[in-house]
Amino acid sequence: MSKRDYYEILGISKNASDSEIKKAYRQMALKYHPDKNPDNKEAEEKFKEAAEAYEVLSNADKRKRYDQFGHAGLGAGAGANGFHMSMDDIFSQFGDIFGDAFGGAFSGFGGFGGGRQRGRNVNRGTNLRVKVRLSIEEIAKGAEKKIKVNKYVSCTSCHGTGSKGGSSYNTCPTCRGTGHVTRITNTFLGQMQTSSSCPACGGEGQTIVNKCPACIGDGIVKGEEVINIKIPAGVEDNMQLSMSGKGNAGARGGIPGDLIIVIEEIENENFERDGKNLLSNIFISISEAALGTSIDIPTVDGKARIKIAPGTQAGKVLRLKGKGLPSLNSYEHGDMLVNINVWTPKNLSREEREILEKLRKSPNFIPDPGDNERSFFSRMKEYFAH
Ligand SMILES: [Zn+2]
Ligand SMILES: [Zn+2]
Repeated sequence: MSKRDYYEILGISKNASDSEIKKAYRQMALKYHPDKNPDNKEAEEKFKEAAEAYEVLSNADKRKRYDQFGHAGLGAGAGANGFHMSMDDIFSQFGDIFGDAFGGAFSGFGGFGGGRQRGRNVNRGTNLRVKVRLSIEEIAKGAEKKIKVNKYVSCTSCHGTGSKGGSSYNTCPTCRGTGHVTRITNTFLGQMQTSSSCPACGGEGQTIVNKCPACIGDGIVKGEEVINIKIPAGVEDNMQLSMSGKGNAGARGGIPGDLIIVIEEIENENFERDGKNLLSNIFISISEAALGTSIDIPTVDGKARIKIAPGTQAGKVLRLKGKGLPSLNSYEHGDMLVNINVWTPKNLSREEREILEKLRKSPNFIPDPGDNERSFFSRMKEYFAH
């Protein structure tokens, strides 16, 4: 599927300023907002398209990459690989933009969420959430997971229609075919009129004459689906990806919900993660520190041999360029920072003790921190400036 140009979507020029981008998006979002366009699939697509364009162009880094490489420059982050922004993502991400336009009208009803339900397809299937556990190695390379999801699927006996043998419908007596019921409630703010989906017909305005026995008229039954999930490299713990249309099937031919994938990072004993960088902590012996050595240390792509120079001090940090994690939204790659500790032996044999006693008085064994101490303070300051 070829994608439209983001500038074209928002109707702005390539050198539009940040505030022009924001303004253009706001206008598009209000125009195609689901509350103003109930059950309008085309408007919903336009709304999502504008949100995606805004998501990229409002981010300086993503915009730069888009300008340079087009859609290909955005990699897995923005819509490729089957990941699209769901409506929930759009609302949670850009809530502030709509805030003053819609927020006022609905505040007191739990904000935006209450308002937008009304305009949506009543038969939209619900979203499903699954947790996917990934090792740091899988996060480094990106992963493909096959998972079996228990969910509502379209009923095969009635092809999802809910009616037995062809369609025959009656107008719903509860809502007289409108699909909505209006209720007046007294609150401390005065009388409030709320309109909600008709409970008798589920908002469709019609009831089925002959219900399909397999699904009792719902058009959906409990089932399962094996879903192939592609997870881009560089994801983080608790990050959510959404696959549109892979959630529960919608009743009576409605549109399916989304599958929300929640990333869970499996702890790794060798590394601590700091964004795209990996931190590791290793110990060498006093003799290795003094004489120098080569050691193998674990990295996300196997072992790497590092050289320890003679006279290496405890607290030295070695930077292994590019041995960290890839960034989800850019071509940047993290590094691995290896903190070198020197192991002080706790138990000594008599012979070892005698050797160390002899060395104790040697002038080369008397500490002379000098530069090392200064670099410690600058490292600490750098750390706290983070
Ligand atoms: Zn059925
Ligand atoms: Zn009804």
